[in-house]
Formats: sequence, structure tokens, C-alpha cells
Amino acid sequence: MTKALIIGGGVAGPTAAMALHRAGVESTVYERYPHAAADIGAFLTFAVNGMDALRAIEANGAVIGLGHPTPTLVFRSGTGRVLGEIPLGGSLSDGTVTHTIKRAELYGALQDAAAGRGIPVEYGKNLIGVQHLSGGGVRALFDDDTHADGDLLIGADGIRSTVRTLIDPNAPEPRYVPVLNVGGYAKAADVPNVPVGPGTFEMTFGNKCFFGYTVLANGEIWWFANPPRRKGQTSPSTDTEWRAELRALFARDNTPANDIIDATPGAISAWSTFDMPRVPVWHRDSMIIIGDAAHATSPASGQGASMAIEDAVILAKCIRDGRDIPSSFETFERLRRDRVEKIVAAGARSSNSKAAGVVGRVLRDAFMPMFLKKMAKGGDKSAGFMFDHHIEWDERVAV
Ligand SMILES: Cc1cc2nc3c(=O)[nH]c(=O)nc-3n(C[C@H](O)[C@H](O)[C@H](O)COP(=O)(O)OP(=O)(O)OC[C@H]3O[C@@H](n4cnc5c(N)ncnc54)[C@H](O)[C@@H]3O)c2cc1C
Repeated sequence: MTKALIIGGGVAGPTAAMALHRAGVESTVYERYPHAAADIGAFLTFAVNGMDALRAIEANGAVIGLGHPTPTLVFRSGTGRVLGEIPLGGSLSDGTVTHTIKRAELYGALQDAAAGRGIPVEYGKNLIGVQHLSGGGVRALFDDDTHADGDLLIGADGIRSTVRTLIDPNAPEPRYVPVLNVGGYAKAADVPNVPVGPGTFEMTFGNKCFFGYTVLANGEIWWFANPPRRKGQTSPSTDTEWRAELRALFARDNTPANDIIDATPGAISAWSTFDMPRVPVWHRDSMIIIGDAAHATSPASGQGASMAIEDAVILAKCIRDGRDIPSSFETFERLRRDRVEKIVAAGARSSNSKAAGVVGRVLRDAFMPMFLKKMAKGGDKSAGFMFDHHIEWDERVAV
């Protein structure tokens, strides 16, 4: 039986293991964290196309019930004027809509689902190198002086992928995204004048900073902000400094941002984000990268996790139907590259619009209502293609 070594137990790794299991390929997931991975980023939007891909391998049950539905986005300008309202991807045939989920819960659910199918997930295994075996297989070397042998190795090891540079030592570095991410949780009861409207993500293009929040049915508020920050520009380093900076950024906006931030307990901090616009080499010999390792998108696309899941399922189909490992990898790249690079480009455009200067802001606020209206009516295909993606597990891949 073919044996796959999967590096990374985030989103793509456990999903690839489950999809391969369904395709009759044995695998083990190796995760460098000593226990279930949490990583940075408080929560993420999990789009319907990601759910569709999980459904193709009957793993959607692991995620259904996590987080809360957010099928609608409402965009406002800093004055509070509604620029438009759009569906965040419509709904699947069973009524499933896009959800917002805590990252740690998504990781945990996928890891548990893989373990529930009897797939070994080994923690504390940090890949540091590989050796090619004479019979055509590959040996993964870990920093605890252990190793594992397999027929193929899948790098699902995220944006700072080690496998990427093992495949191509000249692989590009991640690209800095010019907005930071700050986020947290508050209670609507502690915030004056926040409408309780479950299902909607309110997004404000403020005068100086983008702000998003959603109110859950249970009265929790989940929020994030994207302070613009040039590469190398200094940032606050303490909770007090961050609160002062956010207060100043939102001072002129007609939003509940500052009230929500004031009601947020715990320390506020920020993190930088990066994307990978084009990684020229995805595979070599019996090694391949998928998910963020191959094509990380800025968080603004809301698609990184869903693309990682699509990759995992489609790669398993390619391996199931391919003549051999190298040709399966080529088929995978042919099927995936165009789509994922378009989404990364769309994410970069969204991030840049959040960091717009004065002129950019005026143009954005003037033209966005028209654009959003078109999107809401389905007349704009620039975002629709992201969500409409569908995978039929039983359909053979043309190799
Ligand atoms: C702030 C922020 C907000 C985001 N918001 C969204 C959103 O709203 N919607 C969305 O869809 N996506 C969002 N994303 C992107 C999303 O998190 C990623 O696209 C997704 O997690 C990619 O999954 P992955 O499995 O490829 O990589 P990851 O989830 O990063 O998993 C990689 C795993 O590999 C492990 N690993 C790394 N190196 C090694 C090694 N050498 N050996 C062993 N293990 C290793 C890591 O510990 C990690 O567990 C956001 C990202 C950030 C940073």
C-alpha cells in the first residue's frame, strides 16, 4: 500500500490524510507543535467552498456546528453610510452557509476527525530535512533525531514551509501585507448601541483603519481591525499602547469600534500577515506542497483555509486516479494553480483597499456601492468563482 508522510497538522494536513484514506492511501501526519496546533489568528471565516470540499470526503460533520453562521457582509464607510450588502458565498444544497470559526476549534476538529479514522497524528515532530531513498521513496528527518519513510511526502506546513525550500531552495519568501491584524471578543451587553444581528459581519472602511465585527446569537461580539502598517514601521508593543493607537485610529469614525474595544477584556496585541503570490515550483520527485505552503493568501480573501481543504481533497483524487506520483502531482498543479493564484491576487487587492490613502478612500467610497450592488445581484463574477467551486469525489480526474 502507498504510504504518505504529511508534514503539518493545521488545516491541509489532516484533511489530506482523510482524503487519502478514502482513496486507499495510508498516511501519518507529523506536526511540530507538542499538542493540537492552535497557531495565531483568533477566528476565521470558513467559506462554503471549503465546506463543500469537506463534504466530498464526508468529513463536513466534523466542522458543522462549529462557530456561527455569517452568510452576509455589510460594508460601511467611516461615516456609517452603508456602501452595500452582499452574501458571503450563498448556501450549499443542504442550506450550509459560510461560518466564522475559532481557528483552534477548526484545527482541533480536523485533527480529531483524522484520528477518528485511525490516522496517526504525531505531535512534537519538526521536519528539518529529507533524504531520497534508493527505491524511489522519501525519508523525513525530524529535529528529535527520528525519521519516517514513505512513498511520498506532502508539505502542508504553512506559509513558512520547510518542505517548500527542500523542494526548491530558491523558493520565494512570503510577501508582507501592509495591514496588521488585531482582534478580540467582547459582550454586546457591555457595549452601548450595538444592534444584535446574528448572521451579519459588519465591515467598516474607516477613515484610518478597517474594522469588522459580528454579534452572535449568544450576545458575544467577535471583532478585528486592520491598522495599516508599512514594512519596518514601528508598532505599539503593549496593551495600553495598542488601545491608545486604536482609539486614535477610530476617533473620527461613526462606528462602535472604540466601545467594543473598550469592552474587550485581556491584552490586545497585533500580528503581521504575509501572502505568497506565486511559488514557481510546487513539487519535485516524490514531494509536493499544498495549502499556505504553496499559495498563502492575505486574510482579507477569507479563503485560505478553504483553499487548503480543496487542495487536500483534489490532491488525493489525483493520486487515486494518476498513473504514478509525479504525474499525479502534475495533474494537481494543472487543476489548482490558476484558481488559487487568482484568489491570492483578489486577497491582495482587498488588503490594499484597506490601506488606501486619501484619494484611494474617496474613490473607493464612491465606486464601491455600484460594485457591491452588482455583486449582490450575481452580476459580478470576480468573487463568485471563489465560492462556486464544487468537488465530486467519485468523478475521475482526467490525468
Ligand atoms: C490573521 C489571519 C486571519 C486569517 N483569516 C482567514 C479567514 O478568515 N478565512 C480563511 O479561510 N483563512 C484565513 N486565514 C488563513 C488560514 O489560516 C490559512 O490559509 C490556513 O490555516 C492554511 O492551512 P494550512 O494547513 O496550509 O497551514 P496552517 O494552518 O498554517 O498549518 C500548518 C501546520 O504545519 C505545522 N508545521 C510548520 N512547519 C512544520 C515542520 N517543519 N514540521 C512539522 N510541522 C510543521 C504548523 O505548526 C501548522 O500546524 C487567516 C490567516 C491569518 C494569519
